[in-house]
Amino acid sequence: MASLAIRNVEKSFGSVPVLHGVSLDIADGAFVSLVGPSGCGKSTLLRMVAGLDEISSGEILVGERVVNSISPKDRDVAMVFQNYALYPHMTVAENMSFSLKLRRAPKSAIEQRVKSAAEILGLHELLTRYPRQLSGGQRQRVAMGRAIVRDPQVFLFDEPLSNLDAKLRVQMRSEIKELHRRLGTTTVYVTHDQIEAMTMSDTIVVMNKGRIEQIGSPLHLYDKPHNLFVAGFIGSPA
Ligand code: ADP
Ligand code: MG
Repeated sequence: MASLAIRNVEKSFGSVPVLHGVSLDIADGAFVSLVGPSGCGKSTLLRMVAGLDEISSGEILVGERVVNSISPKDRDVAMVFQNYALYPHMTVAENMSFSLKLRRAPKSAIEQRVKSAAEILGLHELLTRYPRQLSGGQRQRVAMGRAIVRDPQVFLFDEPLSNLDAKLRVQMRSEIKELHRRLGTTTVYVTHDQIEAMTMSDTIVVMNKGRIEQIGSPLHLYDKPHNLFVAGFIGSPA
């Protein structure tokens, strides 16, 4: 595990700025939600932490290490996407072991990690199935399994539950929290669902138009929103 620091990060696509000097310190082991309207830059920020997008300026640190120019596979950061992004032609076990094979982990270590992740996530009986043979909730568990096997310093979740129905969403919320209790991995959880953010996180970061509006505990943001935007987003009148 490690802390995560985002220091004055800016991002433009061509000449269009989408993040304007975002700074954020996340303590080792914390569960932080990142909320804000569609298009405000949440996914872009996560992608830059994961190394899937380059930052235009600023610094990202995982623990003490500046990771700006470190490739995604060497960053110790694992991301879980909304659309699962599973490989359709690979079994559950192959999906989960793929990134470890890329890192040339020994075969026995790979098997051990896949087995233990499958047990944590209740996937042990599904290891030989293909993604098309799984339900939405099971696919989402495989996507989490792929992240867990890497034993990353930081987990990034990008609206992982938004394709699931309401009932499953509630169940998966508690599974993700349980996972966090068990592994203690520093987590950034993007959601546009206020209830999810309020119930799951130690700290909520509210973003708007490429900037951070406010950072605080769920209760603090609810009681003392800095402005009408935060009040409107979190749900109490300012
Ligand atoms: P969010 O995840 O909060 O909905 P995004 O980070 O996906 O927002 O997008 C932030 C802004 O950046 C949006 O205006 C989006 O259109 C723009 N954007 C995202 N990715 C790209 C890209 N690859 N090229 C150009 N613009 C992009
Ligand atoms: Mg997004």
